[in-house]
Amino acid sequence: MIITGIIGYPLDMTLSPRMHKAAFEAKNINGVYLEISVEPARIKEVLDSLRVIGCRGVNVTNPHKETLLLFLTKLSEEAKMAGAVNTIVFDNDDLIGYNTDIFGLETLLHNLKIELHERNILLIGAGGAGRAAAYVIRSLNPKTFYIANRNFQKARQLAQQFDATAINISKLHSPLLTTDMVINATSVDLQDDVTPFMQRGSLYVDLNYKFPHKKRDGITMVNGLEMLVQQGARSFSLWTGEEAPVDVMKKALGLNHD
Ligand code: NAP
Repeated sequence: MIITGIIGYPLDMTLSPRMHKAAFEAKNINGVYLEISVEPARIKEVLDSLRVIGCRGVNVTNPHKETLLLFLTKLSEEAKMAGAVNTIVFDNDDLIGYNTDIFGLETLLHNLKIELHERNILLIGAGGAGRAAAYVIRSLNPKTFYIANRNFQKARQLAQQFDATAINISKLHSPLLTTDMVINATSVDLQDDVTPFMQRGSLYVDLNYKFPHKKRDGITMVNGLEMLVQQGARSFSLWTGEEAPVDVMKKALGLNHD
């Protein structure tokens, strides 16, 4: 049996178990996806126990995405750059960290079929998801790249690492007027604060998949559901060595597949 799962604390309602269960069934794999709520102080003990029971790997969510790096013996290049992991793999004595959020966001943007290279981009948020988004935005070679965050110090650190400009979250108005894409990587709904100031033809991507999206004239509104599926698909492949049944995983979450 392939043992996988997700570790976080507190572990809020997560769609990942539904998606992975459907994927195991579709591929005829005898697999389980456990929901493991673990406080930061007990993380090492839980990782050791997962290894003992032969766990193949787990997804990692808050608050462990950055702190867990301490316990890993190897890191993928992307996870190293982003400084955050969302997937780990137990490989003999190694504990390997990956950041499949990066692949998830890259695929979401790619599937929109909108030209996003050399554009004006604003990232709001500098937590685990913000770090993955900063990596993806830098790869788009943006014309301008602003990063805002409630804790300005964190915005400044991330901006320094990804050659962006940190701005105060209370001073978004002026960059918003010329922004082509805003990515909200915070855990709060910013639609009402941000979209009224965005220009027509621009794109608002909210990595959160739970906020119901309002219609905004001339602005393409996208949530993080596609990203969730794609990051999960990549994790599934890392654990099983098999191609993930993406359409099945989308269907399990009520996403129309193309
Ligand atoms: P995180 O590491 O805890 O970071 C949270 C971010 O939200 C930080 O930038 C934090 O700012 C900001 N924030 C929290 N409360 C705020 C408030 N009241 N006002 C302004 N900013 C606030 O969480 P995360 O993992 O990066 O997740 C962020 C979002 O991305 C969540 O909505 C999550 O669901 C989503 N996400 C989606 C996917 C997907 O696959 N679609 C994957 C990962 C994450 P401070 O630094 O100032 O605290």
